[in-house]
Amino acid sequence: MNISVALAGNPNSGKTTLFNALTGARQHVGNYPGVTVEKREGKWVSEGESISVTDLPGAYSLTAYSLEEKVSRDFLLDNRQSVVIDVLDATNLERHLYLAIQFMELGVPLVIAVNMMDEAKKEGVQIDIKQLSSLLGVPVIPTIAREGKGKKEIYETLKKDFSSKDSRAFGFDISYGELLDKGIDEFEKLINDLPSIIQKYPSRWAALKYIEEDPEIVKLVDKCDNSGKIEKKFKELRKKTLDLFDLDPETLILNKRYGYISGIIKQTVTNTKESLDRHKLSDQIDSVLTHSIIGPAFMLGVFYLLFKVTFVFGEIPMGWLEALIGWTGDTASAILPDGLLQSLVVSGVIDGVGGVLGFLPLIAIMFFLITFLEDAGYMARMAYMLDRIFKTFGLHGSSVMPFIISGGIPGGCAVPGVMAARTLKSRKERIATILTAPLLVCGAKVPVFVLLCGAFFGEKAAMAMFWITLGAWAAALVVARLLRSTVIKGDSTPFIMELPPYRLPTLKGVLLHTWERAKQYIKKAGTFILAISIVIWAAMTFPGLPQTNIEKYEAMREKASVEFAENKEAFDSKIVQINNHEQEEQLKNSFAGKLGSMLTPVTKYAGFDWRTNIALIGGFGAKEVIVSTLGTAYSLGEVDLDAPSALSDRLIKDPNFDYATAISLIIFVLLYAPCFVTVVATAKEIGWKWAVFGVVGNTVMAFGFSVLFYQAARSGIFF
Ligand code: GDP
Ligand code: MG
Repeated sequence: MNISVALAGNPNSGKTTLFNALTGARQHVGNYPGVTVEKREGKWVSEGESISVTDLPGAYSLTAYSLEEKVSRDFLLDNRQSVVIDVLDATNLERHLYLAIQFMELGVPLVIAVNMMDEAKKEGVQIDIKQLSSLLGVPVIPTIAREGKGKKEIYETLKKDFSSKDSRAFGFDISYGELLDKGIDEFEKLINDLPSIIQKYPSRWAALKYIEEDPEIVKLVDKCDNSGKIEKKFKELRKKTLDLFDLDPETLILNKRYGYISGIIKQTVTNTKESLDRHKLSDQIDSVLTHSIIGPAFMLGVFYLLFKVTFVFGEIPMGWLEALIGWTGDTASAILPDGLLQSLVVSGVIDGVGGVLGFLPLIAIMFFLITFLEDAGYMARMAYMLDRIFKTFGLHGSSVMPFIISGGIPGGCAVPGVMAARTLKSRKERIATILTAPLLVCGAKVPVFVLLCGAFFGEKAAMAMFWITLGAWAAALVVARLLRSTVIKGDSTPFIMELPPYRLPTLKGVLLHTWERAKQYIKKAGTFILAISIVIWAAMTFPGLPQTNIEKYEAMREKASVEFAENKEAFDSKIVQINNHEQEEQLKNSFAGKLGSMLTPVTKYAGFDWRTNIALIGGFGAKEVIVSTLGTAYSLGEVDLDAPSALSDRLIKDPNFDYATAISLIIFVLLYAPCFVTVVATAKEIGWKWAVFGVVGNTVMAFGFSVLFYQAARSGIFF
């Protein structure tokens, strides 16, 4: 067995004691940090084989802050083949895991020895070694170095897991959050062009260390030609993390690592005697908020409050915005002459984009609350609690974030959600996550549900939204389970969760985050949705009625003016009636109308008329378009004289649009194909085959459930 091992770990963890136990040497063993300044070497003879062992100086981290840390790190970089035995103090696991995580990130072949098991036992600390090993994905061996316990197990592990060179390859990426992950990617690309660095360091690791302001790496970068560009990038990143989190990148990284360690500890250690001070308060809060019964109840309460607050506070500014949009439409109608241009501006642009922008206050409030929960550290607790549930449905703890981002808390977006699934290592779990996350309530579906709930559930709108959200979760989880039992069968993989300490988010950070998200929403409304709105408007306007039909209505109007010459009121209402008939005939005759009508023989089973069909087709582009299209369709075919301007009122007034239709539509919108952008993102992540599978599968499923519900409702089961 051609193996060399290096003993590494924090000072005073028992490295030298273990070294002596393995090699039989008598090195000086001291009970204070920093005794081993230089590395020492020895031979370990076991079962007739000889393994060379190096005792490295103690280090707290792999950043080259101190001489000891630099010696250890250089040795590991120069001897990438040697297996690192990281010696941890079982009574101080939290602090000692910090170094272990960094070894894992560096990608060295690693065995973890949890030493001082005797002390731990005395202090009543229990460590689930098997769980720890499965979470970290490295062999973990309990040892008592002073008594030589664990030697044999270490030897067997080396023989079993590390005797062939291939088995030593090992990689481990922690996610440091969207902002830093993107930063690391960018710096990795830049560093790939710097030979002086990549000769010695793995590029991703060097990028991470550069962001941590590691003195060695910074020095090397400074010497390079394009150091100015890299430095500028770093300053930008630093400004962003300071703005958003009030922390420099280095501290943010440190916090994230401790967050993951907290997660590991929570899943593996029982009866911790003490944790780091700054975690104490968090632990106390956690004992309530992640309690097995209070926790989930609290979580549901948070969900519900989220909607309640959003709807209560959102109503007033939404009213203002709607009034403003209505006024803009009226003004445009007044200024522009009747005809195509007026129709384009009012029905296409203002009603279309306005319909989507009108929800901005709601979306912004929801973003604000979600950001608050995220920054406060509560989202991570949700992930923690949901992990167990996710496993039963064939998903992974790392699926929780993609789910939440996609709209697990309404207002998300499936596009970043799908991309967030990159943290999943197992391809099967990743596919399951990516295919099901778009079933949740993304920000684009919110306006549709708000419209329908507001119109048909009135006072109970918030409650209805709450149930829709739960329904979405149920659908996503059940579908995931189905997929994982059929087309993507496979075992579940372990999960390390980040559990940061709770903190009060800064107002500035939350506002900035909220603004970032709101900006994207506005941008989307102003570009993509505007374009789709205009296309749909054109499809609903052209080819227009044939001349003979127009003349027919002209004649009718003339006839009315004679017939009701005495009675102005009756005349007005007659004219409106005629105009409506004309517009309706025109709309039905349009390209969109024809397509919508073509589908009605099928869609009528779900209760959808041709207008809804047009909206749903537009929704393939972007879900917000459903609202804007309904807005346009219903504004073109204005139903009566004193028609209220709000779309929700028009829907209620439409006799063909009742509760059953509304709920059937909600079901369909909840489940049908992801929007176009999500489909493209899905294809990029897991291939077109799965993207198409998602579009077809979801639409078929959605239609099936809508029909089922609508037919049941029609047969009188519910009402
Ligand atoms: P190093 O700094 O990592 O090299 O740690 P040392 O090997 O010098 O050990 C530090 C102290 O821990 C010494 O007093 C050791 O006797 C003690 N020690 C090492 N291993 C064990 C163990 O498994 N159990 C107990 N109770 N003490 C240990
Ligand atoms: Mg020592």
